[in-house]
Order: sequence, then structure tokens, then C-alpha cells
Amino acid sequence: MNRKLLDILCCPFDKSDLEIQVIQETDSQEIIEGLLTCSTCQRYFPIIYGIPIMTPDEYREKSLELPNLERWGLEMHTKTNSFKIADSKTAKELE
Ligand SMILES: [Zn+2]
Repeated sequence: MNRKLLDILCCPFDKSDLEIQVIQETDSQEIIEGLLTCSTCQRYFPIIYGIPIMTPDEYREKSLELPNLERWGLEMHTKTNSFKIADSKTAKELE
């Protein structure tokens, strides 16, 4: 995903701007892995293999995303079926 795409990406639920934490990026500013978060609804959208996963909750497969999130050192709600970040500290701990 090109970094410039960030300018036009917004949360599909509330159209808010998204914040990004880049996990892996190429020299040409292509984001390979990262996490987009919405500060309004607290949802997270992982970027995996360069593709932002921004499909509606019901079409997302948590079990497919969790291994990546764990590898990135992120703790998410695993018991509930929500795609919201565990707490506001999660994003900061990444830095
Ligand atoms: Zn949102």
C-alpha cells in the first residue's frame, strides 16, 4: 500500500481519518505491514502483504488476522468478536 493512499483512506464506518502505525515499509514508501486505527470507533484495520483489510466486521476473519497482530506485539480483544483496539495505549506501545 502506498503511503499516499493514506490521504484518501478513511474509516468505512464513520468516515473519520485513520492513524497509522507502520510495521514494515519498503524504501519506496510502500507499506507492507502496518495497522490503521480509527480514533472515533476504535476499530483497527491491519495492513497485511501491502493490503489494508477494511472490509466490514462480518466479513473479516479474526483467526486469520490474529497471528499477524501477535507477531507485531499487539494485544487485541480475542474473546469478543469486535475489531476494536484493546485500549488507547495499544497504539502508543508500538512506537
Ligand atoms: Zn471508525
